[in-house]
Amino acid sequence: MSLTKSYEEIELIKESAQLVSKTLGMLASEIKPGISTLYLDKLAETFIRDHGAVPGFLGLYDFPNTLCISPNNQVVHGIPNKEIITEGDILSIDCGVLKNGYYGDHAYTFPVGEIDKETLKLLKTAKESLYVGIEQFKLGNRVGDVGYAIQNYNESRGYGVVRELVGHGLGKEMHEKPEMPNYGKRGTGKKFQEGMVVAIEPMINLGTSNINQLNDGWTILTRDKKPSAHFEHNVAIVNGKPKLLSTFEFIYDSLGIKSDEEVPFK
Ligand code: MG
Ligand code: MG
Repeated sequence: MSLTKSYEEIELIKESAQLVSKTLGMLASEIKPGISTLYLDKLAETFIRDHGAVPGFLGLYDFPNTLCISPNNQVVHGIPNKEIITEGDILSIDCGVLKNGYYGDHAYTFPVGEIDKETLKLLKTAKESLYVGIEQFKLGNRVGDVGYAIQNYNESRGYGVVRELVGHGLGKEMHEKPEMPNYGKRGTGKKFQEGMVVAIEPMINLGTSNINQLNDGWTILTRDKKPSAHFEHNVAIVNGKPKLLSTFEFIYDSLGIKSDEEVPFK
């Protein structure tokens, strides 16, 4: 597979990414105390199929569901189940779709009702670091520039940056080259090129960076049991600059939030 995509391919990846964005926007208005993560999973599967696509995660490496839903101290790859979510939880929801032969894949961490201040700040910082990373995804830079920016932003604020899981190229496969770690050294790694498309996805822990995996073979948790946040966007290099293919605006519309964070990357 090629490291770079044509502008036609980038438009197709954008179509898939935007369907993920709309799915997350639809879910945003459904997340409330008293529902189960399996309920959200079924809603998402129906929504994606109704829009002429198939869930991208379902069956990928034998994953059993449409969404990865990782509450609280789960980092990523949580499996939806019948447990009921309650006020004060956070839910990291990662969603992928396959449409017209191309994948979209991104994630958002949602607060359930009112959450404690410390966790709210974690969510804010982790999301800010996503955009700090995206800013570095441009011609003249390398993989290490994105990783360094994300790592430095979070570690300087006392958070743990997960090392074992990374972002990735995106296209006809869900996971393509290059790997996009959320840590690194400036000026090192693969050089960015026009037409590259990647998923940038910081996984940021309130406590230390250490993780464990449950014996379900999937769920990744923080070792210190503190909360973790995950924000992911799909981005292309167009005219030398980062261009967002995904958006959180459908989420913000559902939640009545105003934000100009995406303006520099339109
Ligand atoms: Mg993802
Ligand atoms: Mg991803």
